[in-house]
Amino acid sequence: MTTTRLPQVPLFEIRGSPRTMGRMLGEQAGDLIRDMLYTYRSFMQQASGFSWAEAVRESHNYLPYAQAAYPQYVEEIVGIAEGAGVSFQDAWLLNCYEGVAEDQKLMACTSIAANDDVTADGHVYLGHNEDWIGGDSQHVYLVRATPDDGPAFLSVSYGPMLCNLGFNAAGIGVGINSIYPTDVRVGVPQVVLSRAVLAAERLSDALRACLHDRRASGYNHLLADRSGEIFSVESSATRHDVLYAHEGWLAHTNHYLSERLQAIEQRFVYASSTVRLRRAERLLRRLRRLAGALSLEGLQTILRDHVSYPDSICKHEVMTDAPHDRSRTLISMIMDLTELTMWVAPGPPCCGEYVPHRLESAAAPPKSDAAVPARQPQTGSEGELRFWSDATRAVLGQSG
Ligand SMILES: [Zn+2]
Repeated sequence: MTTTRLPQVPLFEIRGSPRTMGRMLGEQAGDLIRDMLYTYRSFMQQASGFSWAEAVRESHNYLPYAQAAYPQYVEEIVGIAEGAGVSFQDAWLLNCYEGVAEDQKLMACTSIAANDDVTADGHVYLGHNEDWIGGDSQHVYLVRATPDDGPAFLSVSYGPMLCNLGFNAAGIGVGINSIYPTDVRVGVPQVVLSRAVLAAERLSDALRACLHDRRASGYNHLLADRSGEIFSVESSATRHDVLYAHEGWLAHTNHYLSERLQAIEQRFVYASSTVRLRRAERLLRRLRRLAGALSLEGLQTILRDHVSYPDSICKHEVMTDAPHDRSRTLISMIMDLTELTMWVAPGPPCCGEYVPHRLESAAAPPKSDAAVPARQPQTGSEGELRFWSDATRAVLGQSG
């Protein structure tokens, strides 16, 4: 038996104006940014049907919309490119990747949220497995940002992408799921809108940011805030619906749940997405029923689940797939919006430990970093990868 212990995810600190924050990020994450550009160059033609130069030209069509809506985030990308010593055009292209490589259909990401009505400690949690192209596992990092304008935030990003997942000092968190509507168009890239959510001071601002009227396509944005409000904002380019956590929890994967959006959803079998959603929903109900309430550890258990492996919530690569179609969980996170702490495990999370990172600056590192309970990762054959703590095993042992 081999023992796997994945390295922790790097954390970069940035502060200042959009341009300055971008430059600080580009300087610190330069190696990751340049390597991601190199990797995407190698499969752009296969993934999108465009050569790199054609894809760059295609991505320019989105720029006027982003500049009109959020010039400060375009400026942030300018800074990222400057800091990393890469061209703005290349960095911008990756921020438009889902629009340019529109035919690529990655069934990626599972998000869950639970509020103080159903959690054992009365905290509000937002969990997210970030599934994307496996090669990007080398390009993922955390950002702790203190903008001149707007709330500080703690985010996950990779390469030259804008921060688009995480939570802010107002206690607003966002997890995103790719979805596949038929009304895609040239407009403001989804990543830019998710960056705007991280700047929201109130939930209504977060909803408005998700639903900008000139969006290029849509995501599902699972939004939660420290007061315990949880919404799933399902959007396409021209339609949206807002689902609410009436029972104190929600889960979402890569297909629409609203009939209004299902009417314009691309027609193919959302097999992995359906299995992951139903499994997450059942585990949320079951863990709550068996344990009396949902715990942080219970949520970690869900994000490490292997039913329908490797197309599971804890997603693993199928090595026979083409490199650009080979998706896996790159990083797993559970945001504690009550404590403004993000528990982060490098992906897939069955192989790693969740480590807490507080939004507070590095000047006051979380003392709990040293107090994470020791875990014993166990990897047997790939198909039998299991990683349960004793407590988790005790709960799940009753559920089979
Ligand atoms: Zn796993």
